[in-house]
Amino acid sequence: MSAELPTILIVEDEIINIHSLSRILRGTARLCFATTGEQALELAERLEVEMVLLDIMLPDMSGFEVCKQLKNNPATFKCTVIFVTALDSDEEEAHGLRMGAMDYIKKPFNPIIVRERVQNQLNLTLAYRKLEELSTTDFLTGAFNRRYFTDIATTELKRHQRHNKDTSVMMLDIDHFKEVNDTYGHSVGDRALRHLVRICRDNLREEDIFARYGGEEFCILLPETDASTAEEAAERLRQNIENTPMELDDNQLHLRASIGLSGIDAQKSADIDYWLERADLALYRAKEEGRNQVVCYATEDE
Ligand SMILES: [Mg+2]
Repeated sequence: MSAELPTILIVEDEIINIHSLSRILRGTARLCFATTGEQALELAERLEVEMVLLDIMLPDMSGFEVCKQLKNNPATFKCTVIFVTALDSDEEEAHGLRMGAMDYIKKPFNPIIVRERVQNQLNLTLAYRKLEELSTTDFLTGAFNRRYFTDIATTELKRHQRHNKDTSVMMLDIDHFKEVNDTYGHSVGDRALRHLVRICRDNLREEDIFARYGGEEFCILLPETDASTAEEAAERLRQNIENTPMELDDNQLHLRASIGLSGIDAQKSADIDYWLERADLALYRAKEEGRNQVVCYATEDE
């Protein structure tokens, strides 16, 4: 999600329509094309397109079916669908809109109207995505925020319950962070938080969910990871934090972190806060035992 142009997928089996739509939309978005429903579904997912202009009469399946599958796939359900079609009954139009399409443009189309309608929907789509980004992200560091972590971890624990997969959770706290702020000021403190977030991102897997819990505390959910594998990952992360100093004008700042972690048994509790508390107890012990270390939750921590 950035300043780069959004991508529109044009799904149309008549080459002449592809040509005229691409002429109309040139410059408003990156354009890509599919001439069958199957191709459309594959491209929409692979290219993470923002919008699909969808013909209804396609050689292999109807545009309605393509729309339904786009809306049922978590990877594509957010893309904005606009039907562009020669089917002009009100019933067809209502059906298309009911399926989640945002607009319905009838052929033969007027180029200016198509351009304006697409632009309006694109603006809405991008505004919505920006809002979504703001509501899920910690402003200072760009990591997920705590509320989003809770949402996504709750979904993950439900999945865990159904499939009985191992999951682990970590709490990470920067050691003596107050001293960083007191010694160098808050702007260096902010930079230090961002520095730590970068190290975490570089060390975690794409599937790990990493969020700023608050202050200098971060939480990480590790799907399909048992506690001993999570402990190894935490130790690697701790070492990388210790060994990657932050450059200041005339010296270097060495951050250190303590990490508490817990394996999750979602059969026992599917409440993420319950497990964060366990990880937090382990973190407390890591602090007590001298900081800059990883501690795995044990029942005696209760
Ligand atoms: Mg067609």
